[in-house]
Amino acid sequence: MQLIDQFNRKVDYIRVSVTDRCDFRCVYCMSEKMTFLPKSTVLSLEEIERLIRVFSELGVKKVRLTGGEPLVRRGIDNLFKSIGKIKALDEITLTTNGSQLQSKAQMLKDAGVERINVSLDSLDPLTFKKMTRTGDINKVLDGIHSAIEVGFKKIKINTVLMKQINEKELYNLVDYAIKYYLDISFIEEMPLGDTDYDRQSTSVSNDDILLKLKEKYLLSKADVTTSGPAEYFYIKNTQTKVGLISPHSHNFCENCNRVRISCKGELFLCLGQDTKIELMPLIRENPHNDEPLKEAILNSMAIKPKSHNFNLADQKPSVVRFMSHTGG
Ligand code: SAM
Ligand code: SF4
Repeated sequence: MQLIDQFNRKVDYIRVSVTDRCDFRCVYCMSEKMTFLPKSTVLSLEEIERLIRVFSELGVKKVRLTGGEPLVRRGIDNLFKSIGKIKALDEITLTTNGSQLQSKAQMLKDAGVERINVSLDSLDPLTFKKMTRTGDINKVLDGIHSAIEVGFKKIKINTVLMKQINEKELYNLVDYAIKYYLDISFIEEMPLGDTDYDRQSTSVSNDDILLKLKEKYLLSKADVTTSGPAEYFYIKNTQTKVGLISPHSHNFCENCNRVRISCKGELFLCLGQDTKIELMPLIRENPHNDEPLKEAILNSMAIKPKSHNFNLADQKPSVVRFMSHTGG
């Protein structure tokens, strides 16, 4: 069985937010005083496992666990271990802020995770603190180095550059990635959730980043197809690929192969649209029968939007939900 939408796009990739909670409060992601969801409204780890298994039976091959911060959820080790046993999955990946990575890296490797993305916006302790509000750079760097020692196939740094905050760290971060044989991607800030920042004044365009990169590095376009909003370049004479993730561009929508599941069990069919169906009631009302769930997921393909609708010029966020709720 396969998930094919109304525009003939095959969906074989899911991103699952396993919690809305986080130990950081990154300025572009959350407001300083976030209110988190009550526990009863969030999927249990067993429910998440079941959902991932059901998607795998519908042809999904790749799962990314995200959040919030996935590694702060109690019991997360068991979830990784159990989904690591689902044979139909080709790839299990993780996006993390790295704060817990030092103690979790080996567990992740043992569970079969081969690639991880670690968010790192600054190498300067003060700027790092300013951007994450609560984060400790040393813990994150220790986490990255544990992950390097454990030997993942690929570790990618994710960075959001913000004007007058960490924009000046572009070269430092790329040099760090080169030094440790990591990849690095720059994500353009997306208007998700009402944070305390004026996004128009902080957002840095990937066109500008590309120009600056070309001033210092020799880049050659990488022939990587991700079906996502990323463009990749090899940095000559290094092992590092640099990615530019531009969700504002519409170019990637026609090859979109993914859907997102929030920690509340909402199936979001597009990151930039509110179109969704609620899976939690189907999960809870049918504890021993996956058919209603499967049917709903198959039917959802008829409403997957053609493209997103981001517009940074709008005064209000185009989508009111937070990235931490839906998962990045
Ligand atoms: N807590 C984990 C982390 O930070 O990697 C996983 C969840 S976080 C929502 C996933 C990614 O989304 C991070 O790389 C973060 O930088 C990015 N992100 C969060 N809010 C964003 C926004 N408004 N625009 C662009 N990227 C954002
Ligand atoms: Fe937490 Fe990740 Fe959002 Fe930062 S980007 S607040 S680490 S969920």
